[in-house]
Amino acid sequence: MLKIAFIAHDRKKDEIVNFVIAYEQVFKGHHLYSTGTTGLRIMEQTELDIHRFMSGPLGGDQQIGALVAQNEMDLIVFLRDPLMAQPHEPDIIALLRLCDVQGIPVATNIATAEILVKALGRGDFAWRELVHKYKPGVEE
Ligand code: PGA
Repeated sequence: MLKIAFIAHDRKKDEIVNFVIAYEQVFKGHHLYSTGTTGLRIMEQTELDIHRFMSGPLGGDQQIGALVAQNEMDLIVFLRDPLMAQPHEPDIIALLRLCDVQGIPVATNIATAEILVKALGRGDFAWRELVHKYKPGVEE
């Protein structure tokens, strides 16, 4: 069971809902997380149970980032809106930076998300289970 997070900016919410509906069976077996509104939208239209953090502009990206910093999060689908300025741009950049620090698979558009979910379904991210098993304690 991996930890997977969904985030979508407002004009990308329909896209992420449709994406998660399409792959609901793949996501069903994992621990799911999201920012507030994205998770609400997905749960309204699927049977999935999602732990919702705060809305992105209120700190949800940072809450997910905290799990990434601890190398807890395994995969992120983050559909950004590249054509609209976001008030929480620094949080978005911070989250993506932490994904690069830890080497966490993160899709920022639907084409990459499709590839990641197919890899997930095939078991290509099983190495993340080993990361959790052998993870050293949080460093001081
Ligand atoms: P939301 O947050 O899911 O609460 O809308 C995502 C965002 O807009 O950053």
